[in-house]
Amino acid sequence: TTHLVWLRNDLRINDNSALAAACRDNNAEVLALFIATPGQWQQHDMAAKQAAFLHQNLCLLQASLADRGIKLHYHQCDDFAASVDYLETFCQQHNIDALYYNYQYEINERERDAAAEKRLDARGVICQGFDDSLLLPPGSVQTGSNSMFKVFTPFSKAFVRRLHQGLPECHHAPKAREGAPFSIREKIPAFDYPLEEFDTSLFPPGEEAALTQLRHFARQHVAHYPERRDMPAMDGTSRLSPYLAIGVLSPRQCLHRILKEHPEALNGGSAFQWLNELIWREFYRHLLVAFPALCKHQPFIAWTHKVPWQKNEAHFKAWQQGQTGYPIVDAAMRQMNTLGWMHNRLRMITASFLVKDLLIDWHDGERYFMQKLLDGDLAANNGGWQWAASTGTDAAPYFRIFNPTTQGERFDKDGTFIRQWLPELKEVPDSDIHQPHLWAQKNNRKLDYPAPIVEHKAARKKTLEAFERARSAA
Ligand code: FAD
Repeated sequence: TTHLVWLRNDLRINDNSALAAACRDNNAEVLALFIATPGQWQQHDMAAKQAAFLHQNLCLLQASLADRGIKLHYHQCDDFAASVDYLETFCQQHNIDALYYNYQYEINERERDAAAEKRLDARGVICQGFDDSLLLPPGSVQTGSNSMFKVFTPFSKAFVRRLHQGLPECHHAPKAREGAPFSIREKIPAFDYPLEEFDTSLFPPGEEAALTQLRHFARQHVAHYPERRDMPAMDGTSRLSPYLAIGVLSPRQCLHRILKEHPEALNGGSAFQWLNELIWREFYRHLLVAFPALCKHQPFIAWTHKVPWQKNEAHFKAWQQGQTGYPIVDAAMRQMNTLGWMHNRLRMITASFLVKDLLIDWHDGERYFMQKLLDGDLAANNGGWQWAASTGTDAAPYFRIFNPTTQGERFDKDGTFIRQWLPELKEVPDSDIHQPHLWAQKNNRKLDYPAPIVEHKAARKKTLEAFERARSAA
């Protein structure tokens, strides 16, 4: 018999549910297939950096699979519909008996998989899908009345209770099969998609690198996570998001590694705080399944649809380029534009600034983040944006508005992070770093840096009025 593993956002050999299942029968021949869909990626705003990261990880995966005697086939077509056509042809050509794949939860992906199963079923190919990219499958953590939680904290509590009842286990990487290892004759060509270099010293591709980073974080950093996680100048978070986003690493691997180093992690403390972030990741994915309209970028709170957003190209550009005159916002945007990664606290600050200070539609920010992020992920990005825009599941109402100056003062007091990304402010003293235009005025200095493009207090008032109007119109 011949088994096919259809790889998508699960680019690893360790703890890969579909791959492990396909390899269970020692006598079966196992093939793997990856289909690149640049047209679809474009529609989904995949960042050029993420595409490059994906490509490099795929090449490394090809080598690890070859070491185990599994050939990774590659094909490129335009979109998901074409990928289903190709999959069907491939199964026919290679006499595939069974297809194994890990679920993706976004709407287009689910439609693609349903179409693929239907076609293959008609050809007698047995299809098996697996919940793999989550600790617990969507729908398995619910309220007492069997519905999805709409607020995070009770979800997290119920989630932990479920974990106490039993932990999801990791699968071993498959053993070497007959013919292993073999040398690769056809390397995976570059995708026909914009590819942009990323910092491989910060985000070295490959499973080994991801696991090393996870181990190091679990041993050295997790204990300090609560006090460092909000400080962008510190190396306080794991930076594992790019690996989790394309499945080079699984959340089960994260959970077990943390529990190995900190056996009490599920009961609270520093390590739990980090696990709780993984639970946020789960929360947003579970939400996508319970409320598929989120995949179509609809607001979770319907009336917020009516907020009269402003179209202001100059403001939007200033935000994108890190030229708003608010140093913490600008440093953050430049961090993302350069690295394809932004610290979580800064994602909250920059998102809040776009929506609540500039009154620009959160969809524009959501799209821009996707186009830039190495860890771009529909569920987490949409969830984060809706949280910041007060259109989503945040328990706090819309009138909680971050002040970008005081946020900077709180989380980058002496401006270490700001100076890292805004060299034009290097002469501004610590005490003035969050309001450099005032310092320049006072000292009669000329800075190559803009004055604030909006005044926060006035902007805040305008936003509150806009939200209030929208709510009363609903
Ligand atoms: P750590 O603090 O080490 O956290 C560990 C892991 O938990 C992360 O790698 C990530 O997988 C997950 N995680 C942490 N925080 C969150 C969160 N708030 N929501 C969901 N998952 C979380 N994360 C993405 O992976 N992709 C995105 O496209 C994305 N867009 C965001 C947009 C906005 C506006 C906001 C506010 C947040 C967004 N996040 C996104 C969540 C979070 O900012 C990143 O996951 C985090 O900064 C990644 O850095 P890290 O790996 O060092 O995180």
